[in-house]
Amino acid sequence: MSFLNNVLSSIKRGCEIGGFPEEFFALISKPERIVMVKIPVRLSSGKLEVFEGYRVQHNSALGPYKGGIRFHPKLTLEDDIALATIMTLKNSLAGIPYGGAKGGVSVNPKELTQKDLEALCRGYVRALKPVLGEYIDIPAPDVGTTPQTMAWMVDEYSKLVGYNVPAVFTAKPPILHGNPVREYATGFGCAVVSKEVAEKVLGGIEGKRVSIQGFGNTGQWHAYFVSKMGAKVVAVSDTSGTIYDPDGLDVELAMKVKNTTGKVINYPKGVKIPDPQASLYVDAEILGPDAMENQITIENVGKVKAKIIVEGANGPTTPEAELELTKRGAIVVPDFLANAGGVIMSYLEWVENLQWYIWDEDETRAKLEKIMKSNLSKTYKKFEELQSSGKEFTMRDAALVLSLERIYQAMKVRGWL
Ligand code: NAD
Repeated sequence: MSFLNNVLSSIKRGCEIGGFPEEFFALISKPERIVMVKIPVRLSSGKLEVFEGYRVQHNSALGPYKGGIRFHPKLTLEDDIALATIMTLKNSLAGIPYGGAKGGVSVNPKELTQKDLEALCRGYVRALKPVLGEYIDIPAPDVGTTPQTMAWMVDEYSKLVGYNVPAVFTAKPPILHGNPVREYATGFGCAVVSKEVAEKVLGGIEGKRVSIQGFGNTGQWHAYFVSKMGAKVVAVSDTSGTIYDPDGLDVELAMKVKNTTGKVINYPKGVKIPDPQASLYVDAEILGPDAMENQITIENVGKVKAKIIVEGANGPTTPEAELELTKRGAIVVPDFLANAGGVIMSYLEWVENLQWYIWDEDETRAKLEKIMKSNLSKTYKKFEELQSSGKEFTMRDAALVLSLERIYQAMKVRGWL
């Protein structure tokens, strides 16, 4: 099944469990608007490259569209639709006033010079300007995009309208009205969720072994904060391979190595395993699949040993694999709950920007932590409620029912249903 089909089959299941009408599924299963643009860029080499860009605006029942921009060579429009749909669910569950969106360009940003990357970012904004805006659609970074790319984008948008509009993009560098917490917000949120669930099912996070697949923005900060909370990070991986140490890795050293050499496999200690998937299979109580979609599938789920799977990435576990994990007593904390720290922080940044107000780092992190804990707690309560019926339910089912309920109620009072 494709990524989009996986997302839609989860929503279908959520609609059935929550008892929502067919016509609600008909509305929620399709994006409201898809914009495809061509972005011509004269590269430094002299060649004219015409990139294809997307913005999928999935649903606006709860507020303006909100979601990241992905630069990845394998990005397809169908994946972008799936990611936009997840954003609608995530923003609803988080209780923030946003609908869902996602954008992207199929490009490998690592193959572009900084100058060419800047030109592509500015071209993306010029092409999509009519459908973006601080009250219309507010993008943020995702895979392959960064605070620097957001800075170019916000600058381009501001030039087009003739005045500074910081609130139209989030996760900007702090000097351009970003908030310092945004850099680590997603991984921090994953760590908060890991700790909360570990307290419920493992008696605490202290001393528990954690393995992380994907050592980018999400994975690095997930690993960093769980280690600060007392867990032992035994493995992390990126596309260069997996590093493993049953006695615990030095996470800060691994981050330094990854960020200076580009490859975590250059970490000087522990065991080096060439397979990037090996991090999914090591002995650990908690697993963070924090890289990409479709990583834990029915083919490899038998090798996954963790009791708690905290989905830092979007869509890393297929529905069949998730049911298999649930049958054996493992808990999968779904992506749209686990990795919501990034968008919740983006929301806080947006509120600051709209008011031209500034919160300090500790104050902002405390607000983020409070929202993450409250979302986890209400979802866990629903999960226990569903499980008490005696039937097999996943935590995703509970999160879906809560998230869909909020969207359904908003659509109803708007008169869409
Ligand atoms: P990133 O580009 O910073 O990092 C991705 C990492 O995954 C890289 O280290 C890459 O080498 C590694 N990777 C890719 N394929 C791999 C594989 N098969 N095995 C092991 N490692 C692999 O991206 P990111 O921003 O951390 O995003 C990662 C995931 O988290 C994506 O699914 C994204 O949608 C999701 N996410 C990110 C944010 C955010 O704020 N960054 C927010 C919500 C969700």
